[in-house]
Amino acid sequence: MTSTLPNDNIRSFDEQITNKLISEIIRDRIKSKGTRFSANDNIADFINPGELEILEKEVASRIKDLLKSLVIDVDNDHNTQETAERVSKMYINEVFKGRYHEKPKVTSFPNDKKLDEIYTVGPITVRSACSHHLVPILGECWIGIKPGKKVIGLSKFARVADWVFSRPHIQEEAVMILADEIEKLCEPKGLGIIVKAQHYCMKWRGVKEPNTSMINSVVRGDFRHDISLKQEFFELVKQQSSSNNY
Ligand SMILES: [Zn+2]
Repeated sequence: MTSTLPNDNIRSFDEQITNKLISEIIRDRIKSKGTRFSANDNIADFINPGELEILEKEVASRIKDLLKSLVIDVDNDHNTQETAERVSKMYINEVFKGRYHEKPKVTSFPNDKKLDEIYTVGPITVRSACSHHLVPILGECWIGIKPGKKVIGLSKFARVADWVFSRPHIQEEAVMILADEIEKLCEPKGLGIIVKAQHYCMKWRGVKEPNTSMINSVVRGDFRHDISLKQEFFELVKQQSSSNNY
């Protein structure tokens, strides 16, 4: 089989020296630190400036091979001639950007006014893809906070959620990862997250059940220990819930 991997003039210095692909070089760096690199892990710390563009070219060449294996005439079909490049860019810079790009910069501020009433933010649109089939998961998320020592701007929750969800996921793990990130950012006394999403692996394929959605939640800190606080959070979310259908 003919290889369609990038030629030398678009390979990085490291690639040319080691004769390895950029994906192998990045993987070696991650393994040498003993770090996990599952589909829903962020690996930005292991990617040097300029390497994403090279990775984009490697992925495009693999997608082109996939299209060829699907017996699609990529050389003559004008609709698919640049599909490989488009899909590669879409994976790395859009739908899976939460794997390859750094966390958005979020500044937290001291909670000088000692705010301690709970508040909720939502619905925040979540867009992800299932790790099993790489087809979309689309839905909404609500975040409830009982402030602790630090506070962050409301729009920052949406940014962080977008970064966390823009990876191949299973919904249960996505919610846990988002909770970890929010705890790191603002160390709340209590945290609750609810996600309601539709999975296109159930709508588009498989059982083809168009209206089923999955709802899951995580509660931490005071939301976990104090039942009335947890109920208040769920009640606030119920009031904010839109009737949007995904
Ligand atoms: Zn799936």
